[in-house]
Amino acid sequence: MRLLSASLFLFGALTFASVRAETSAIPTTAVTAKVAANTGKLHQWCKQVTPRLPKVSLNECLNSKLVPGGGRSIKGLPLMTRDFAVDLRAKKVQRVLLIGGIHGDEKTATAVVFKWLAAMSKSSAQEFQWKVAPLVNPDGLLAAKSTRVNARGVDLNRNFPTPDWDKEALQYWAKKTKSDPRRFPGKKPVSEPESKWIFDTIKSFQPDVIISVHAPFGVLDLDGPAQPPTRFGRLHYNRVGVYPGSLGNYSGIHQDIPVLTIELPHALTMPSPSEISRIWHDMQVWIRQHISARKN
Ligand SMILES: [Zn+2]
Repeated sequence: MRLLSASLFLFGALTFASVRAETSAIPTTAVTAKVAANTGKLHQWCKQVTPRLPKVSLNECLNSKLVPGGGRSIKGLPLMTRDFAVDLRAKKVQRVLLIGGIHGDEKTATAVVFKWLAAMSKSSAQEFQWKVAPLVNPDGLLAAKSTRVNARGVDLNRNFPTPDWDKEALQYWAKKTKSDPRRFPGKKPVSEPESKWIFDTIKSFQPDVIISVHAPFGVLDLDGPAQPPTRFGRLHYNRVGVYPGSLGNYSGIHQDIPVLTIELPHALTMPSPSEISRIWHDMQVWIRQHISARKN
């Protein structure tokens, strides 16, 4: 069934492409052209990405309606995002930036975000203003053997401009990790296009909270000014630690934007569908109760 619908889509896309080629002399509006271009980009992106993800079909990826979010990886892959419309009857609306796959070998951390994108797509409006980026390290995921680091060997989650980055991040790497190549913080802060995109997006989107999905420690962690959750599904709150150059350290501690880290229990094996929806439900309850909207 999945195969049939995927091939039907492909047939549809090919037909669409040939119709477009034949009618290219007819002027189309800029909006229509942009939508068609984005659909093509998503199709190409999903064909590359989904074979690497556990339990995410090509159709599911296409239905995510992700669009290029303005940034690109070192190897030129677009950093895809989706913004969701808000229920305008709500009095205050929290802005939430949801990030998956900053470490390319934590595959469930991207796949689970696709499941939440599907849940969000079911309703016409959301309680919160979501900006979702399920895969911010596509080169890491797509490496011959998926890697934690990006294509230049940088751990993006150590590349954010925390104070004294030069001294602390590089020293920590050399001494505490014994120059572990999986944890190299880069030569300078925000040296990588992927971390720069997250950095810029925080500035432009101004989230009230950032949710960053990782694996495989099976816990929740929180940096910054908010009351930590007790649990989401089976994941309990348990501090992982603060690292020089991490997103939680930069945004949570130094920008006062709380960063909730979800560490799924396995990097390659998905939680059950019911556990994925329990985490999703509990996350929304926590945002509703403990994150206040600073704007609007
Ligand atoms: Zn991670």
